[in-house]
Amino acid sequence: MKADWRAELQTRLTASTVRRDAPLKKAVTLRIGGPAEALVDLESEGDLAALFEFVGERALPVHMLGKGSNVLVPDAGLRGAVLRLGKAFRHLQADAAQGTATASAGLTNAAFVEQCRLSGLGGMEYLVAIPGSIGGAIAMNAGAHDGETAAFLEAVRFFDPQRGVCQALAKDFAFAYRHSTLCGNEGRFVLAGTFRLRPMADREIRARRQRYQQWRREHQPRDFPNCGSVFKNPPGHFAAKLIDEAGLKGHRIGDAQISEKHANFIVNRRDATAAQVLALVDLARETVYRRIGVTLELEMQVLPLGS
Ligand SMILES: Cc1cc2nc3c(=O)[nH]c(=O)nc-3n(C[C@H](O)[C@H](O)[C@H](O)COP(=O)(O)OP(=O)(O)OC[C@H]3O[C@@H](n4cnc5c(N)ncnc54)[C@H](O)[C@@H]3O)c2cc1C
Repeated sequence: MKADWRAELQTRLTASTVRRDAPLKKAVTLRIGGPAEALVDLESEGDLAALFEFVGERALPVHMLGKGSNVLVPDAGLRGAVLRLGKAFRHLQADAAQGTATASAGLTNAAFVEQCRLSGLGGMEYLVAIPGSIGGAIAMNAGAHDGETAAFLEAVRFFDPQRGVCQALAKDFAFAYRHSTLCGNEGRFVLAGTFRLRPMADREIRARRQRYQQWRREHQPRDFPNCGSVFKNPPGHFAAKLIDEAGLKGHRIGDAQISEKHANFIVNRRDATAAQVLALVDLARETVYRRIGVTLELEMQVLPLGS
C-alpha cells in the first residue's frame, strides 16, 4: 500500500509537527472553513527548507497562515500543506540605543508592542488592535490610525523556495495599501522583520495603546467572529459607507451577516459557511457597482483550495 504523504513528510522534519486533516476553523478568526490536508506547525528554518523540497517533489500546494485574522478558508478545506510559525518564531530582539527591534514573524502584534514598550521603544502602537502576527502585518502591510507597517520596516528575513533563506532591505519590495510582495501568495515567506522605532516614554506608549483599543471597542463589532475589513477602501471612498448607503447593513445570508455595527465587516453569527460569506461579498460588490459605479476590491484573503 502507498504510504500517506503526510506521514512521509513528518519523517523529513526534525522539530515541526504535521497534523493530518486538521480542522482550520479554530485557526482563523472567522471560525469558518474545512480542514487542512496537512497542518504544519513549523519550528525551524531547516524544516521549512525540507518541507519545500518535499512538496516540490510532489507538486503539492503550500498555504501560509499567520493568526488567520484576514483570511477566508474554503468550506472544502485546503489541499496540500498549511504552514504556521510555531514557538521558535516568536522572539523579539530590541536595541534601544539603535532604536530598532527585530521580531520573528510568528510573534503576535500585541506581544510585539508590549515587548517594545519594555525596551522603551514606541511608534507602532496602532498594531495593538490588529489581531495578527508580525509576518501577517508585513505581508498585508497592515495599518490603522496613524501608522502603516511598511513605514517602519527596514529589513526582512524571508524564505524563497528557489533561493532559500534570504535577507533584504524593505525598500527592495513593493508595498501598497494592504498589499506587499512579501506575501505567501507571492511565493515569499516572512521569517522576521527589523523595524525602526523611536524612544518613547512609557506613559505615552500606554496612552497611545489605550486610545487605539478604545476606538476599536467603540467602532468595530466584537460580538461575533469576523476577519476585519472585507474590502479595501476604494480611492476617495470608505467601503463601509458605500455598503451602508446601498442598504446592506445587517443583510444576512444564512449565518453570515454584514455587520450591523460596521458595514465593511462580515460576521459569523453561528455556523456560517465560506459560500455564504462569498455570496455576501458578491452581493455587496454588485449592489455598490450598480448604484455608483465603484468596484470594491477584496482586502480579505480568500485562500485557494489548491488544485
Ligand atoms: C477585529 C479585526 C480588526 C482588524 N483591523 C485591522 C486594521 O485596522 N488594519 C489592518 O491592516 N488589518 C486589520 N485586520 C486584518 C488582519 O488582522 C491583518 O491583515 C493582519 O495583518 C493579518 O495578520 P495574520 O497574522 O492574521 O495573517 P493571516 O490572516 O493569517 O494571513 C493574511 C495573509 O498574509 C499571509 N501571511 C501571513 N503570515 C505570513 C508570513 N509569515 N509570510 C508570508 N505571508 C504571510 C497569508 O498567506 C495571507 O495571504 C483586522 C482583523 C480583525 C479580525
